[in-house]
Amino acid sequence: MHVEVRGLNKKFGSFQAVQDVNFSIDKGQLIGLLGPSGGGKTSILRMLAGLETVDSGDILFHGNRVNDLPPQERGIGFVFQNYALFKHMTVADNIAFGLEVKKWSKAKIKERVAELVELTGLSGFERRLPHQLSGGQRQRVAFARALAPEPQLLLLDEPFAAIDAKIRHELRSWLRDMIDRLGITSIFVTHDQDEAIEVADEIMIINKGRLEQKGSPWEIYKDPQSPFVAGFIGESTIVDNVSSLRGFETASSWPGTKALIRPEYVEIGQPSEFPILSATAKGRVRHIHFRGSEWLVEVEVGSSKLVTYRSLEKQVLHPGDEVQVLIHRAYLFNDSDSWIMENK
Ligand code: ATP
Repeated sequence: MHVEVRGLNKKFGSFQAVQDVNFSIDKGQLIGLLGPSGGGKTSILRMLAGLETVDSGDILFHGNRVNDLPPQERGIGFVFQNYALFKHMTVADNIAFGLEVKKWSKAKIKERVAELVELTGLSGFERRLPHQLSGGQRQRVAFARALAPEPQLLLLDEPFAAIDAKIRHELRSWLRDMIDRLGITSIFVTHDQDEAIEVADEIMIINKGRLEQKGSPWEIYKDPQSPFVAGFIGESTIVDNVSSLRGFETASSWPGTKALIRPEYVEIGQPSEFPILSATAKGRVRHIHFRGSEWLVEVEVGSSKLVTYRSLEKQVLHPGDEVQVLIHRAYLFNDSDSWIMENK
């Protein structure tokens, strides 16, 4: 289903929870709503579902305005963080629930439940009660139940938040496979950037009620439109005093300019390792963190602390070492503009 939202606003009392949000989503896409707690992600999802009223703006499904349709007439499925399964009902009955409400025939319900049990890998568990299942299995039941009435839009609110890290990882790729197979338009809320990057076709960054940026994970990583987005996705250092960075002094003539620097654009070494004319700055190693597959090195340059990676071969640097720092590229932002600068 094609989804479009125009000028969406929502206030709770005098608090503006969602502010002038606009977006459209193509059929079959998996979209991640990502942002800090309290940003308005759940409120947007609940308005799409019809569980929350809209103050102003339009929600269009297939080009038709659905603002005034009750949830059960919107053709959506909803999966919540805490499973929300019926405790005293078996897996099969949980999945069948929405179909009984819709007065499907007994035979059709049986057929559909069998299909979903198969699809979600729950064969053999049909007669179990929710407390006899693992967290991951329960969430698959919740998913099957949401899909049972053949919705055209699936909304998932922090679907993996209550599940431990290892299973969460498996469930993410499971969800990705499911959505690809079913081709159902899906929107999930998360505050976990890795989850959004790994699973979503496109991410919408939501902060303080506003949509800050929408794009593929790669677009958002490589071309952030605001310091907030740049800081929220991926690792980075924000440098307030740009004039302290050799090679970027010209940018300091713009008042209030901040630079954001990703670890992969920072190179450190001994002075002799860099060409004499290249714009490097003196730095000092502050901390070195072992991260399993690499070292994360924190280097102090003037009043800034930059981070960069080092491969695992051996630990050649130590805290206190003097190093030369070369910054290849930085994202520069001021109040009115943002641009990328290369150190040539
Ligand atoms: P989280 O990640 O913590 O779930 P979120 O981005 O999903 O956050 P929302 O749940 O949409 O954010 O909440 C946005 C803001 O609106 C919050 O400040 C919240 O306290 C407020 N809010 C949400 N629902 C209500 C409500 N029914 N009444 C009053 N305030 C509300």
